[in-house]
Parts: sequence; C-alpha cells; structure tokens
Amino acid sequence: MILVISAIIILGIIQFTYKQTYSVSLNGEIIGYTKDKVNLQKRINDYISSGNGDDVAFVEVKDLPIYTACLLKKNVETNDDEIFEKVTSAGTSYYKYYAITNNNTEKVYVENFQQAEDVVNQLKEKNSANSANLGIVEKYETAKAEFKEVSQCVDELYEKKITVTSGSPYKNIGKQIISEASVPTNLGISLIRPISGTISSRFGIRSRDNHKGLDIAAPKGTAIKAAAAGTVIFSGNGAGHGYSGYGNVVVVKSTSSVVILYGHCSEVNCRTGEQVAQGQIIAKVGSTGISSGNHLHFEIRYNGSAINPQNYVYN
Ligand SMILES: [Zn+2]
Repeated sequence: MILVISAIIILGIIQFTYKQTYSVSLNGEIIGYTKDKVNLQKRINDYISSGNGDDVAFVEVKDLPIYTACLLKKNVETNDDEIFEKVTSAGTSYYKYYAITNNNTEKVYVENFQQAEDVVNQLKEKNSANSANLGIVEKYETAKAEFKEVSQCVDELYEKKITVTSGSPYKNIGKQIISEASVPTNLGISLIRPISGTISSRFGIRSRDNHKGLDIAAPKGTAIKAAAAGTVIFSGNGAGHGYSGYGNVVVVKSTSSVVILYGHCSEVNCRTGEQVAQGQIIAKVGSTGISSGNHLHFEIRYNGSAINPQNYVYN
C-alpha cells in the first residue's frame, strides 16, 4: 500500500515538473524541443513540396529532423520556429522556367511554357533565319534566370535571312545576337579559381535572399587559394565583425575597388593585415556559419556591391 502511494506521489511530481516532449536532432545534433512533432513535420513537408515563393517548384532539404520522445522540465522552452528555420534554411529551392535555345545554346529565359512557345512560333512566322535551330528547354535551377517578355525574346533572337552573293559588301550585315544583357565590369585584375569543385549554387536571386556569391562544393579541408593577390582585411569567424553567416571567412582587398570573400571555411590560414599572393593557400573548405554542407562561398565585391563571379572565373 505504501509502495502504491509513493508511486502515485512520484508520478505526480514527474507530471508536475516535466512535460512530454520530443527532442529534435539534425545530423546527430540536438537542435531543439517540440511538443507537437506532427504539426512541425507537416510545416517542414509543406515547405519542401512548394517552398515559400510562387515560382519555387520544390525545395531540396538535405537532412530531415529526427524526433525522440523525452521528458522535459516545464521551464525549458520548446522552439518549433527555430527548428523550422534550421531545417529549412539548409534547403535549396528549385525554380522551374524555360530556356529558348538556338543551336542548343540557351539564349533567353521566360517564366512559362506558353511564352516559350509564343517566342518560337513568332520567329517562325517572321521567317527568322534560325527558325529551324530553335528549341525549348525546361529548367529546374537553384537560381532564377533573368526573364524577358515574349517581344524582347523575339527581337533578340530574330535573324534576318540574307542572300549572300559573292563579293557583296553586305555579307556580314545581320542581326548581332547578344546573350549577355550587360557588359561585365572590368576588374582590372585577372582571377584564378580558388578551388576546383562542383558549382552548387550560382550568384543571383534565391527565394528568400539574394545570393551574393558563387558556391563551390568540395570536400572539407580542400585548400582554398587566393583568386587574386591582396591585403587580408579580415580573417577569422565573421560573426560580430560584419560577416555574420559566413562562418570562418577570409576577406582580401585586391585593389581599391575589388574585395573578395571566401566563406564557410573550416580553418583560415592567413592573418588580418597580411599580404597574400595569388594562388597562396589562405583557408580550407568547410561548412561553418549558415551553410548546408562543405563548400566555398566565393564572393566578389566591386565598389561595395556583389557582382557575379562567373563573369570572371568558373565560366
Ligand atoms: Zn553562398
């Protein structure tokens, strides 16, 4: 009888002090606690299947959380929102759009298939010289392209049919096809590739943020070489130094206008204030800061604005 009473008292104390909770782990690391794992997982699943932007086709999340039942002291907070952020911020959004190709080279991009068909049909109607070489490619990419209106695409792709007679002074006159909308900034220096690897995310607009650099995936510890010589203006953990999210980061000022950032490093191999040579090993690839896997975030700033690194390297 005493045993029964004491058992009831103990259970009462447990109930009073603890609540039924799930610890949530990602990649073997506990990232928080939730009381409602079904609802939390549903939120995550909804996000994966459609993202949070209209034109996001789907989101790829590398690792899903694992829930383990546990008792948690009542004064410890659950943090569903933080968990959701942690899981989804490691995700990659894929956009669906269409490229119009000429001789299998992507020339212009439109948002939907109807627009792509209109462009091709209008060029055929106008009897464009390249009508027979045009194609439509469905794209799933981690960054959106620069979309154009149907009429702009038609103007850009249209090629006049020229009958060339031998010796004609007009034989080179035709419509020039310009694929790049704007001429890239001349940096005044030439860059080398800091690492070799696979491009995992390009420069440009993403669903939640503007991606200011180019991501190159490579194994942890891969040596990162300085793309250009310069002065190290910051080296170390960027948090609290104007480079939060970058993890361990090396920032090199190469000219008065050009600053190059190397983010998410596992370690840095140079000091603030140091002069580095082009090709010198300055850091190692890692996944520190806001990062979903081992990669180099390679960012070029020209007069303070991030510009597309692929105008200079990895192109
Ligand atoms: Zn990046």
